[in-house]
Amino acid sequence: MSVSIWMDQSKNKEVIEQDIVIIGGGIAGLSAAYWLQKEDPTMRISLVEKYELGDGATGRNAGFITCGSVEHFNRLVEKHGEDEAKEIWRYSEINLELLKEEIIQGRESELLFEHKGSFSLASTAEEFAELKNSASIMEGMGIKVDIIEEAGIKSRLGAENFVGGIKYIGDASVHPLLMLQEIRKKIEKTKNEVKFYENHEVFAIEESGGDKVVRTKHVTFKAPIVVFATNGYGPQLHPFFEDKIFPTRGQILATEPVERFMEGPCYANFVLDYFRQLPTGEMVIGGFRQLQKDVEIGYSDETSDIIQKALEEFLHQHIPAVRKAKITHRWSGIMGFSVDGQPMVGALPTDPQCFFLGGFTAHGLGLAFHSGKVLTDSMFDRKIPDFITAKRFQ
Ligand SMILES: Cc1cc2nc3c(=O)[nH]c(=O)nc-3n(C[C@H](O)[C@H](O)[C@H](O)COP(=O)(O)OP(=O)(O)OC[C@H]3O[C@@H](n4cnc5c(N)ncnc54)[C@H](O)[C@@H]3O)c2cc1C
Repeated sequence: MSVSIWMDQSKNKEVIEQDIVIIGGGIAGLSAAYWLQKEDPTMRISLVEKYELGDGATGRNAGFITCGSVEHFNRLVEKHGEDEAKEIWRYSEINLELLKEEIIQGRESELLFEHKGSFSLASTAEEFAELKNSASIMEGMGIKVDIIEEAGIKSRLGAENFVGGIKYIGDASVHPLLMLQEIRKKIEKTKNEVKFYENHEVFAIEESGGDKVVRTKHVTFKAPIVVFATNGYGPQLHPFFEDKIFPTRGQILATEPVERFMEGPCYANFVLDYFRQLPTGEMVIGGFRQLQKDVEIGYSDETSDIIQKALEEFLHQHIPAVRKAKITHRWSGIMGFSVDGQPMVGALPTDPQCFFLGGFTAHGLGLAFHSGKVLTDSMFDRKIPDFITAKRFQ
């Protein structure tokens, strides 16, 4: 957004002096605020969000809390080697452990949280062979997985036209927006100096006397540290992100509720497509951005006929229990894909006063809460994992 001299109503108003300004009110921004206030409740922190908290990808996703990344584990090993692949997996296991301990415990049913694992399903013999290979590498590392044959997929997941799959035993699912609101409640319950500014879009970040000046139309903040929790929107605010974080659209449809029949959430087609039945019975199906790769890059959060039609066809081909169910919602959201598929956390190598947590590449629920803790570690000069540090782009 650009702001004209006429629109700017922050002039002549008091500048709000803070220790940290966090830009972005999704799971990344809230996780950063949570861990920073826990580290030092006297820190004056403002969290500034363009719309309402959760209106970005966090309130539009499918609610899978899964480990790993956007590809099968054998590919992660090929790219990173066994030790780092295991470290990447462990990073998201810790994410779920922290979410359960700090946020979810005692609120499981209200947050529609289920810890029933997730599945990766193959529609071809080649993909099934790759999944079996992944499973054997993972078992060798002590990661719990189960191989499922075609009949098991039908009986346990009610899904047809898949040749086999594997189950990741440790994964979970949740209502993502309720979980976000729960993080906010937890922050607000404790005595600290965190303030939320919703419906405030940051349009400029400037320098003044060694501090950063963060400008919105109505309020100006001044702080030594700015945290970008802006997901795919990072490149709109800072040039560092231009060749590292790419805004990528994801689309979903949801049906009316039907009687529950699925054991757990599923990915298909090399983690590109996904579906799950909510505890309340609705079916949520997403993916197919591979059909319109050029269109699915950018900031428009409209839906497209081609992808919505593909989602409907998927439903008809694979999930008989919802073939006749009415489609009640269609939506899209913008994700931040990183250039190497791994998240980015810490100070920007080009500016030690600017921090970032993002680039979750379609897996923010499985990564962001732990990343808020790691961001805090990085700010307080504690070591953070090499695969995640923004310094890898130096
Ligand atoms: C369709 C879809 C399905 C998905 N499914 C899953 C899933 O099942 N599991 C999973 O783990 N992940 C999933 N994801 C990805 C997941 O939603 C994201 O990784 C995660 O929400 C990222 O969180 P975030 O806080 O970084 O970003 P966001 O939630 O997008 O938050 C960034 C915020 O920054 C704000 N902002 C941007 N610019 C400015 C500005 N100038 N001033 C102020 N505020 C600004 C935005 O308004 C936004 O609210 C999915 C995403 C989509 C779109």
